[in-house]
Amino acid sequence: MHLMEILQRRPIPAAAVFFGITRRCPLTCRHCSTSSLMDSEEYPEELFRKFAATLTPDNRPDFVLMSGGEALLRPRLVEDIAELARAAGARSQVLSGLFFAARHERAHRIPPPLRRAIDAVDHFSASLDVFHEEEVPRAAVFRVLHEVLDTGKDVSLQITGLGDDDPYLADLTADVLGEFGDRVPMLVVPVSPLGRAHSWLVREAPLPKSAVAPAPCAVAAWPVIGFNGQVTACGNQDVMDGKVPLPAHLYMGHIARDDWSTIRGRVLESPMVRAIRATGPEYLRERYGTANGCGSPGYCESCYVLSKDPALPRAVAEAGALPTTRLIERQTENLLADAGAVSFAREYGLASYAGLVALGHAQQPARSGT
Ligand code: SF4
Repeated sequence: MHLMEILQRRPIPAAAVFFGITRRCPLTCRHCSTSSLMDSEEYPEELFRKFAATLTPDNRPDFVLMSGGEALLRPRLVEDIAELARAAGARSQVLSGLFFAARHERAHRIPPPLRRAIDAVDHFSASLDVFHEEEVPRAAVFRVLHEVLDTGKDVSLQITGLGDDDPYLADLTADVLGEFGDRVPMLVVPVSPLGRAHSWLVREAPLPKSAVAPAPCAVAAWPVIGFNGQVTACGNQDVMDGKVPLPAHLYMGHIARDDWSTIRGRVLESPMVRAIRATGPEYLRERYGTANGCGSPGYCESCYVLSKDPALPRAVAEAGALPTTRLIERQTENLLADAGAVSFAREYGLASYAGLVALGHAQQPARSGT
């Protein structure tokens, strides 16, 4: 399963579900958005299994995507979720920081339990960037990727960088192309000022806008199960960490109580989440808000305060009940889906590297920036 197959479905509501199966990680990367440590929180494995078992051939996402923390700290859970997903007809992916390669540069094999977990999924992604390289050498990452590629499995790299002109990114992506040709597609995204990066990454505050145009939030399409079992409409880390009080409209449920069918129904039908997907939070705030000046400027910052405005959810629900609103939502979804995976990577990642997601994929150009 190529990375493109996953990204092409990114705007489609409930086409995938993210499982954050642990917050723990033995690495201490400086940019870690989840501030993971080895004693970070973990939720009982059985609850993740129980939720995965609620996927059925008649009601399932296309993809089950697992990460952490470090997902491969729970290799048996990864294996079980992948098997439950496959039994329902869904495909799976796991993302790892390759902690097991950190101190074993000369070792030649992935440890057997982890290898079984990787064998069980349909796509294997590894993190590699200047911060991970301080913990896991690039040569060790390449060795692991070669070992997985040799089994015939599709792999990809998730790379974070400081910007399109970050020289490290130019060096790394050229090195990956030199080592693997087009066999390792890369999703290159900017570092976010979240988690451990919050203390050192300074981003310019967005300027307040005089007029706001609709700007759909495509990442509100796939529900995210946090390390604590809470399910939210997006993976905004500040929301998941509780740094920002959980906006009522982003809460989709909890895996201890809700099954996939219930979560999917909320993702598809919640008027607020539908409206955020169709027009984005800034437009909703300007169009329906009555509490002017509430909250700071910014895209997600606008989202955080939507439910605090007592009149806004009701106005959005009324508008959402109109047949024309459904039509606009469907058109937006189709436009985003037609724009394709490279367009998504350009919008949410670093634009000049967006074409790298298509490496090795038959139907898309495979050059940077295309
Ligand atoms: S706009 Fe709202 S739904 Fe979209 S990513 Fe930001 S917090 Fe999540």
